[in-house]
Amino acid sequence: MNPSKSSSKMKNKKIAGSSDERETIMDSPITAPVPVENSKEPSNFVAPIVSCFNDRIRPLIDVVDKLRHLNIMKEGIQLPTIVVVGDQSSGKSSVLESLAGISLPRGQGICTRVPLIMRLQQHSAPKTELRLEFNGKSIVTDESHVSEAINVATEELAGHGKGISNTPLTLEVRKNGVPDLTMVDLPGITRVPVHGQPENIYDQIKDIIMEYITPEQSIILNVLSATVDFTTCESIRMSQVVDKTGERTLAVVTKADRAPEGLMEKVTADDVNIGLGYVCVRNRIGEESYEDARREEARIFESHQLLSKIDKSIVGIPVLAQKLVQIQATSIAKNLPDIVRSINEKLSENLSELNKLPKNLTSNAEAVTAFMRIIISAKETLRKILLRGEFDEYLDDKNMHCTARLVEMLNRYSEKLNQFSENDSGRNFLMEELSILEESKTIGLPNFLPRTAFLVLLQRKVKAVSSLPIGFVETIWNYLENVLTAVLTKHSSNYHQLQLSTKRAGHVLIAKMKKRSLERVMEFVEMEKLTDYTCNPEYGTERNKLISQQESFVKQVFGSSAPKIMIKGYGEVEVGELRQYEYLLPQAYDLRMTMTAYWKIVQKRLVDCMALHLEYSIKKLIDEELASEIVNEILGPGGVGIEKMLEEAPNLSLKRDKLNRSIGRLRESKEVVANILDRIATFVGC
Ligand code: GDP
Ligand code: MG
Repeated sequence: MNPSKSSSKMKNKKIAGSSDERETIMDSPITAPVPVENSKEPSNFVAPIVSCFNDRIRPLIDVVDKLRHLNIMKEGIQLPTIVVVGDQSSGKSSVLESLAGISLPRGQGICTRVPLIMRLQQHSAPKTELRLEFNGKSIVTDESHVSEAINVATEELAGHGKGISNTPLTLEVRKNGVPDLTMVDLPGITRVPVHGQPENIYDQIKDIIMEYITPEQSIILNVLSATVDFTTCESIRMSQVVDKTGERTLAVVTKADRAPEGLMEKVTADDVNIGLGYVCVRNRIGEESYEDARREEARIFESHQLLSKIDKSIVGIPVLAQKLVQIQATSIAKNLPDIVRSINEKLSENLSELNKLPKNLTSNAEAVTAFMRIIISAKETLRKILLRGEFDEYLDDKNMHCTARLVEMLNRYSEKLNQFSENDSGRNFLMEELSILEESKTIGLPNFLPRTAFLVLLQRKVKAVSSLPIGFVETIWNYLENVLTAVLTKHSSNYHQLQLSTKRAGHVLIAKMKKRSLERVMEFVEMEKLTDYTCNPEYGTERNKLISQQESFVKQVFGSSAPKIMIKGYGEVEVGELRQYEYLLPQAYDLRMTMTAYWKIVQKRLVDCMALHLEYSIKKLIDEELASEIVNEILGPGGVGIEKMLEEAPNLSLKRDKLNRSIGRLRESKEVVANILDRIATFVGC
C-alpha cells in the first residue's frame, strides 16, 4: 500500500486548516471537531487519515518515547501511555492499522500475542519507514513485509504455539500523514483457551492488561465491537476495576458497518461509564485499500440511514486520531513534571546508594592501600577493646567489652584455684603428710623437715590443679578467637576475598597463640613443681603464725580426747586418728603449715603470671603477629594473591551493576528531559 499513489484521487477531499487552529489543539475540548491537516504538507498530499501533527506536541512525545526506549519504566517511573484493550477480535489491531495505515496481523483467533508498542510518527518524506525493535534487535522492514516480520518477532518472543509473552515488541512507523501517537496493543481477552493455548491463558492475559492499565498515567483505549452488548465486555470490566469513573477511558466502537441498528443509542446511553467518550469507526475489511476504507467509512457515516444520525464529532478514524493526539498531549503535559521529578529523585537516591557501597578496587595499588587500611583499623579496634577498654565501636555488644570479660575470666579461674585448696582442709588432717614422712625416712638426725617430703607434697598438689590453668588458657583463646574474627569480619566486610583470607589468618594465628600459651602454662606448672621458692615476706609471716601453734597443738592432741581442734589462722581439724603418730606428728604439722603458707604464694603466682602472660600475648598478637599472619595468608606461598582482593563479593557486584545500569538509564533520561523542560512549563501553563 502506498499512500502517495492514491493521493491524487483524494486531492479534492482535503480538509483545510490554518496554523492557528493547530496551535489551539491543546486547549480544544475533548470532542474536537474534525481535525486539521498540517499546512506544511505538499499540496498533493492526502493522508490515509488526517495529520494531527503539532510542532509543540511532537518533541514531548519524542521525549516520552525516548524514555520508554530507555526502559525508564524499569525504574518504577510510569509513562503516559495509550493502552489498547479489548476482547478478542473486537478489532484492536484493525484500529491500529487504520491509524497507522499499515497491515498488522489480523483475523480470527489470537493474533496479538505480545504487547506491541506502536510508535506512529509523522514524517514528510514520501517513503514510509518501518522498524521493529525487540530483544535488543532493530529490524528495518517495509509495508509489504511488516505483517510477516511481526509474526516472526512474535514467534521469537512468545514461541511458535498460541502462547503469549509480556516482552514487548516495538513497531516504529514513520509515515507521511500518520498522527504522532504511541500506543500499546495488547493480546485480546479470551475466556476459553483454544487448542494449543495454556490453561491459564485468561489469567496471563489479564495480568498483562492489568499491568499496563493500572498506572494512573495510562489512557485506556477500550475497543468494543458494535456487534456486542458493551456491558458484557471483559475489557470494560477490567478497565472499570482501575478506572471506575472512566476519566481515562476512551471507547472505540468498531464494526459500525455490521451493526448500525441501535448504535447511536448505545453510545449516547453510555451504560459503561466511558469518561473520555466514544468514537465509532469502520475499519478496513478484507483486502480493501486504506483509502477505500476511509472513503467507505466517511460514506456510511454520511449517508447511512442510521449511522448518519450519529454526531460527526464522534465518528471516523480521523476523529479518533485527533482525539488520541489531544488526549496524549494533555496527559504528557500533565505527567512530565512528575516524571522529571521522579527521575531526579531516583537518580540521587541511586547515586547515594552507590556511594555508600564500598569502592571497587581496580588496581593492585588500590588493593594494597585498602588492605593496609583494613589492617590498621582492625588493629586499632583490637587495641581499644582488648587493651585500653574503650568500647565506643561496640556500645551495646557486651561480649566485645573485652577487658572486662577477660578480668571476669581471670577472677573465675582464681576462684577455682582457691576452691581447690580449701577442699578437705579439715578432714583427714595430716594423714597425707604422715604417709609422705613415713616414706621419706632416712638415716639421720630427727626433727629436720626432709625437703624431699615437702617437694613430693608440692608436686602432688601442683599436679592436681594443673588442669585449671590449662583449661583457662583454652577458654581465653576461644574467646579471643571469636573477638578477633568479629573484628576482622567487620573491617573487611567490603572485600569478600580479603574477608575470607583474614578470617583464615585469624584462625591460624589464634591456634598458634593458643599452642604457645599452653606451652608456657605447662612450663609455669613444671616450674612450680620443681622449685619451692618465694621472696614474698608474707610466706614467712604466715608460716610463723601457724608453726607457733605446733606445740600447743601436739599437747592438745595427746592431752585431750576431743575429736576436733581449732588452729588459729587455719581452721578446725579432725584429730582422732592422729594419736597413734606421736613421733611424726610435729613434723607432719610443720609440713602441712609450711605448705599452707607456701601454697598461697603458688596460687597467687599461678594467677599473676597468667595475667601477665595474657596481656603480653594479646599485645604481641596485635602489634606483631596479626599483620604478618594476614600478609602471609594472602601473599605468602599458597596465598590467594593481592589480585584476588579486586574481586568483589558476588552479591555486592550484582548490586553495583544494577545500580550503575539504573544510574546510566536515569542519567540518559535526565538528559532527554532536560532539553524540553522549558516546553513542559509552557504546556503546564496551557
Ligand atoms: P483483535 O483481535 O481485537 O486485534 O481484532 P482484529 O483487528 O484482528 O479484528 C478481528 C476481525 O474483525 C477481523 O477479521 C477484522 O477484519 C474484523 N474487523 C475489524 N474491524 C472491523 C470493522 O470495523 N468492520 C468489519 N466489518 N470488520 C471488522
Ligand atoms: Mg490483535
